[in-house]
Amino acid sequence: MILKILAIGLVLFLVYIILFKKDREKSVKKDVKEKNEEIMVECPTCSTFISKKEAILSNGRYFCSKECLLNK
Ligand SMILES: [Zn+2]
Repeated sequence: MILKILAIGLVLFLVYIILFKKDREKSVKKDVKEKNEEIMVECPTCSTFISKKEAILSNGRYFCSKECLLNK
């Protein structure tokens, strides 16, 4: 009887651990994604601030548009 209760408790514990781990991985991935979108970079050509997600990366610098990239 005690063994049965312990077995059920162990299964519930494992399920809890698995669910908790999945939630944590999800939130970590979400955080990384949000951080990338939130970071604002200055266009070296026209000094406009744009999010990294929309910026064009060239030689380690972020440009707001192809025009600025060509006119650097
Ligand atoms: Zn620009």
